[in-house]
Amino acid sequence: MKILNMVSKSSSTPLEKLGLRSSLDCALHLPIRYEDETKLSTIGEVIHAFGAVTAQVQGYVIRQDVMFRPRRQLLVVIADDAGNELFLRWLNFYPSQQKQMAVGQHLRVRGDVREGYYGPEMVHPTVRAVAPDAPLPNTLTPIYSTIAGVSQLAIRKAISNALKDPDLTAQLAEILPKSLVDQIFPNQSLPTLLSAITTLHHPSKTDDMESIQNRTHPTWRRIQIEELLAQQLSLQQARAKRLSRRAVQMDPQPRPNGILSQFLSHLPFQLTSAQVRVWQEIMGDLSNPYPMNRLLQGDVGSGKTIVAALAAMHCIDHGYQAAIMAPTEILAEQHYRKLKAWLEPLGIQIVWLTGSLKAKEKREAQALMASGEGQLIVGTHALIQDGVEFSKLGLVIVDEQHRFGVKQRLQLQQKIDDVEIDCHQLMMSATPIPRTLAMTFYADLEVSVIDELPPGRTPVITKLVKSERRDEVVAGLMHEVDKGTQVYWVCPLIEESEVLQLQTAVDTHQALQQALPNIKVGLVHGRLKSDEKNAVMQAFVSGDIKVLVATTVIEVGVDVPNASLMIIEHAERFGYSQLHQLRGRVGRGSAQSVCILLYGHELSMAAKERLQNVKEIQDGFLIAEKDLALRGPGELLGAKQSGDTMLRFVDLQQEHGLIEKTKDLSARLLAQHPDLVVKHLNRWLGHKIDYIKA
Ligand code: ADP
Ligand code: MG
Repeated sequence: MKILNMVSKSSSTPLEKLGLRSSLDCALHLPIRYEDETKLSTIGEVIHAFGAVTAQVQGYVIRQDVMFRPRRQLLVVIADDAGNELFLRWLNFYPSQQKQMAVGQHLRVRGDVREGYYGPEMVHPTVRAVAPDAPLPNTLTPIYSTIAGVSQLAIRKAISNALKDPDLTAQLAEILPKSLVDQIFPNQSLPTLLSAITTLHHPSKTDDMESIQNRTHPTWRRIQIEELLAQQLSLQQARAKRLSRRAVQMDPQPRPNGILSQFLSHLPFQLTSAQVRVWQEIMGDLSNPYPMNRLLQGDVGSGKTIVAALAAMHCIDHGYQAAIMAPTEILAEQHYRKLKAWLEPLGIQIVWLTGSLKAKEKREAQALMASGEGQLIVGTHALIQDGVEFSKLGLVIVDEQHRFGVKQRLQLQQKIDDVEIDCHQLMMSATPIPRTLAMTFYADLEVSVIDELPPGRTPVITKLVKSERRDEVVAGLMHEVDKGTQVYWVCPLIEESEVLQLQTAVDTHQALQQALPNIKVGLVHGRLKSDEKNAVMQAFVSGDIKVLVATTVIEVGVDVPNASLMIIEHAERFGYSQLHQLRGRVGRGSAQSVCILLYGHELSMAAKERLQNVKEIQDGFLIAEKDLALRGPGELLGAKQSGDTMLRFVDLQQEHGLIEKTKDLSARLLAQHPDLVVKHLNRWLGHKIDYIKA
């Protein structure tokens, strides 16, 4: 994006770190909320109010002390003419604040009034040293999101300046044809973009404050439509671009004497009808002349791997390489073993590549990839690092794709863009994406869903157990192991952390091994070297290790069907999808599986609700909806490293209808006004366009 009218020249000022480089950036940095400083109460009113109130009062400082009980803190007392007193308290403070609030100063303060140790008090109020008759603002005070080192005052000033920039009017001139907008959003009296932005920074007394605060005001609507539109346009454009590119066009059926046909006639098990359906969908995609971009969703244990293997074989049958990339070494290793067992007998050359290989092994692996001798390449993101070349890559399969960061997804995209002929992409995920998200962030993505588990599975029984009853759990575990069951014991952290009072994996391992002297207890965690990790996992797979104490490294994808008991310690520390993923490690064989969620005392309401929900809900889609409601889309998308991709002004929970209509607007704009599309995208996304595509 062209950088317009720099706010500051130096390379990275705090404002720039906040993303505010131009007047336009500033103008689009809209308030996250507002404070009402238009009213002034007397100290007498607020200290006699019942319960906590948020208020603005003023008075003279009559006392200032640094107290040391219970810890170092600044105490300031202000009083009004009637002699009413209010305590102000700071736990962190600077000398400059002490100076600003010297005895005799007149202060206007705003904050929550509570009954404190000394009497009615405000903790960390907003303070202004002003004359008693200083006028009150007559609009709401905007509060902006910020970072350390940038005060609200500084942002407000930058934004005020930006709004006065004469160029801004032109930059925010209407792009969307009014007739089109009115047609799609009738009777909404949407303001122009410029006036919406001005209003939101400085709402006037006559505006409806409530709808401005809760973002349903027509000004917000206007902004939300603009933002969603930019996202829809870029995704629809990406789609059009993809359809115009070329990829290996494969046969719509397995080749008669190919390895896929051979494999299909000796399948290790019968595919479920859901697996058959998604496989048909994928094969359909692969027979197109343009690259596939498909997400294969299926709850944990639904059998995505074999579908990926079929796709890989089909690709190899056409003389191209296929690659499978997984987010952790354990998971990649497991794919490698499974695929090797299935495909090596058919004469396929499989290459294994991860970051932990020795230099010589790495060179050998890379040579096989570059020569084309390696037909199926399995590994971690080492596959997409610089210097790694494929000879003829036809298909990339990314397992648990949401676990990869934005950076890695971009890297993958680059690898793919580098080659002349595009490759097909199949993403796999056990974290279902709720519909609203699929409609927005993944508009250029076909979705296949495996909505059926392989036969013979019984749902996992989930139990909530207080951690005080840990001994009983250990006794029960012993009994289960005697019956031949294997057990996962999951601990949240490996290092001591007094604050969280979590059991460490190491301690747990030791304690369990002591309690169960005749049983082999293994330990796996993220700090182990990869060959150590593999050795432990292998011993668990082979049944040598009966009880595996683990950190969340086992969260994704690990598959040991004989394990049918899982114990998760301090389950309250985990989020929805983590718990669901963890639980998915059991219930993979035919035995009835049990997942025990041990929880500490003093559960928060939220944690209680979460555990209760996980106990009652087995369906990954429902769990994902709960998760979305709780955490917002960022973490679900795995894009938390980059706030850039997120919609800033749209709440996906609330805006179902808006998304549909904006999609419509986007399609019409693309068809009728391609020139306006470019303008709109530049304004809203600028340099972020790459991220959206990742
Ligand atoms: P996920 O979808 O979680 O990646 P996997 O692909 O690891 O699941 O499959 C889970 C387990 O189910 C594996 O042991 C796999 O071999 C087995 N499996 C997959 N499909 C079937 C099927 N149709 N019938 C029986 N077992 C199956
Ligand atoms: Mg899997």
